[in-house]
Amino acid sequence: MKYQLVSSLIVGVIIMSCTSTDNPFFTEWDTPFQVPPFTRIETKHYLPALLVGIEKQRTEIETIVNNPELPSFKNTIEALETTGQFLERVENVFDNISSTGATDELDNIEREFKPRKSHHRDDILLNEKLYQRIKNVYNKQNRSILTIEQNTLLDKIYRDFVRNGANLTDAQKVDLRQINQDLALLTMEFGQNIRKEIENWEMILENESDLAGLPERVVTMAALLAEERGKPGKWLFTLDKPSWIPFLQFSERRDLREKIYMAYINRGNNNDQLDNKARINKIVNLRIKRGNLLGYATHADYVLERSMAKNPASVYELLNKLWEPALRRAKTEAAEFQAYIDREDGDFQLQSWDWWYYTEKVCKEKYNLDENQLRPYFEINNVRDGAFAVANKLYGITFTERSNIPVYYPEVKVFEVKEADGTHLGILYTDYHPRVGKYAGAWASGFRSQSNRNDHWVTPITINVCNLSRPTGDQPALISFSEVETLFHEFGHALHGLLRTRTYTDQVMPRDFVELPSQIMENWAAEPVVLKEYARHYQTDEPLSEELIEKLHASQLHNQGFEMTEYLAASILDMDWHTLTETNDLNPIEFENASFKAMGLIPEIISRYRSPYFNHIFSGGYSAGYYSYIWAQVLESDAFQAFKDTDLFNQELAARFRKYVLGLSGTRDAMEIYREFRGQDPQIEPLLVKRGLFVEQ
Ligand SMILES: [Zn+2]
Repeated sequence: MKYQLVSSLIVGVIIMSCTSTDNPFFTEWDTPFQVPPFTRIETKHYLPALLVGIEKQRTEIETIVNNPELPSFKNTIEALETTGQFLERVENVFDNISSTGATDELDNIEREFKPRKSHHRDDILLNEKLYQRIKNVYNKQNRSILTIEQNTLLDKIYRDFVRNGANLTDAQKVDLRQINQDLALLTMEFGQNIRKEIENWEMILENESDLAGLPERVVTMAALLAEERGKPGKWLFTLDKPSWIPFLQFSERRDLREKIYMAYINRGNNNDQLDNKARINKIVNLRIKRGNLLGYATHADYVLERSMAKNPASVYELLNKLWEPALRRAKTEAAEFQAYIDREDGDFQLQSWDWWYYTEKVCKEKYNLDENQLRPYFEINNVRDGAFAVANKLYGITFTERSNIPVYYPEVKVFEVKEADGTHLGILYTDYHPRVGKYAGAWASGFRSQSNRNDHWVTPITINVCNLSRPTGDQPALISFSEVETLFHEFGHALHGLLRTRTYTDQVMPRDFVELPSQIMENWAAEPVVLKEYARHYQTDEPLSEELIEKLHASQLHNQGFEMTEYLAASILDMDWHTLTETNDLNPIEFENASFKAMGLIPEIISRYRSPYFNHIFSGGYSAGYYSYIWAQVLESDAFQAFKDTDLFNQELAARFRKYVLGLSGTRDAMEIYREFRGQDPQIEPLLVKRGLFVEQ
C-alpha cells in the first residue's frame, strides 16, 4: 500500500514533466496504419511512458474492482482483458528496439522497468478483490450463452490467478512476489550477459595464412567487419552465427577453429562479471520454490500444465523415443568423419570443433556439393519473395513494399499485406542482418496484434528479426540454405500473427503448438517446384538446376544425426534442470555433465546450448519448453504430409489450415484445433522419415 502511494506520486511528477515535452507515446499516431512513429521516438521517451502505462492499467483495474454492479463476464472478465493496452503499445516498441539495437541506456531502462513490471503484474494477479469477482463469474456464469472463445478466456483468466497464487495465504503471497521479482531481474541479467559476451569477444587475424580455406565471401565479410570496428587491413571474426559458423565450416586452421568454438561454448562461463553459473542456480532454486508454493511437484509440471504435452512424462517419452535413433546416426556420422580424417588429414581424434569442417568435407565428397555452390541462388530478396509467393499461392494474400512507412533502422524493410481482394490485412517489417546491439538468433514479434473486441477489427503489425549473412562489398546478401529455412520459419510466425481471427488478445498459446505455423513453412522452401521459382542465380537469373536440387535434397539427410542429437541433448538438459524437486547448491557444469553422461552423449558433440548461455530457458520463455520445437515438428511434418499426399497448394487444406491453425489458435484447445484441420490425430512417422531416422519395425 505504502509502495503504491509512493510510486503513484513519482509517476504523477513524471506524467506532468513528460506530456508537456511532446512524448510521442502520449499522442495518437498519425502514421500510415498507425505504425509507431520511429523517427520521433527517443530513448528518453520510454521510461516515462512505461511507468504511466503501469499507472493507467492500475487505474483501469481499480475501476473494475470498485464496480458496484454484480460481477459479470462483461464487467469483469472482458473488462480485465481490455486493460493495459497503453502499456502494451509502449512495451512492444521498447522490447523490439532494445533487442535489435541495445545500448547501455536502454539496458538501464530495462533494469529499471522489469522489476516494476513484475511487481505490477503481481499487484494484479494477487489482488484479492479482483480475484473474488473473477471466481464469482467462474463459478456462476451460465457457460452456454458464451462463445467458445469467451469460455476459453474465462477459464484462462481464472487459471492465471490460481497459477499465480490467488489461493495462497498473505504470508505466502509476500514470498511469491519476492520470488517473481528476483526471477525477473536474474533472467534479464542472464540475457544481457550473453549479449555482452558476444559483443566483447573478437578474433582479429592479421596474416593471410590465417585465412586458409575460407571462401572469398567469408574473407570479405571479415575484412569489412574489421574496417567497421577500426581495424582496417585485418580480418575480424565474432561469435555471431554468420561469422563463427562459416569459420568452423571452412577454416583449415584447426587451432583457430578450436579457439573460436571454445569462446562460443564458454559464454557465461568465464568466472568473470558476466559469468552466469551462480545465476543459474538461483533461477532454478527460485523456480522450484515457486512451483512448490503453488502446489506443483516441479517447475516443469507448473509450465507444462499449459502445453499440449501436459506433463513432464509425455515430454520425456517423445524425447527418449527420438534419442536412440538420433544418437545411433550421430555415431555413424562421427565414424565417417574419423575415417575421412585418418585417410586425408592425419593422426588425430575428431573433436567438437572439427564437426562443421568435416560435415562440409564429407558432404562435398559424398554429394559433390558444398554450400558455396548454392549461395548464389539464395539472394536474400529472392528468397523473401519466394516465401511471399508461397503465402500467396496458399492464401491468395499479397505483399507490397512500402517506402512511406517509418522504419526503426535504415536497412529494415516494410510491407503492406493484403487479401486477394485488396483489403488491408496488416503490416510486416523485416530486419534480416546482424549489427552491434542486436540479440543473436531469429524471432518474430509485433508492434500491434490482431483483435476484434466489440466488433472493432484491429489489424496486426508484425516483425521478422533475423541475423542472416549480410551483403558484402558489391555482392548482395547470399544466404545459406539453413538461413533460407530460418527466413521461411520466421515468416511462418509472421503469417500466424497476420492471419489470426480472434476477438481477444489474452490467450494461452502453447509453446509446443506455436512452432507449428513456423516450421511447416520450411517444407515449402525445399520443394523443387518452389525452389525453381525463387532460387535464381543472382547474376544470371538461372533457376537452380535439377541436379543441384537433387544434391541439396540428398545432402539434407546428411548430418541429421548431429542436428537431432545436439538439439535433443539441450531439450533433455532443460527438462533435467526443471524437473528437480529440491533446491540445491549445484555446480551447473557438473550438473549438465551428469545429465549428458546419463544420456550417453558423445564428446564429439556439444549440446546445442550449454547451461551458462541457454538463453531460451534461463532468459527467454522456454523453460521446460525447449522440447517444443520437436513436438511441433511432429505436428508440422504430419500436417505437411497432408499437402504432399494431395497437392502442395491444396486450396481446401490451405483454407482449413488458415481458418483453424492460424486463425483460431488460442481460442480453444490446441489439439482440437489440430484435429479440425487434419481430421485425425498427428502421427510421428512423417517426422522420422523426413529426418532419415525411420526404422522399419
Ligand atoms: Zn520459431
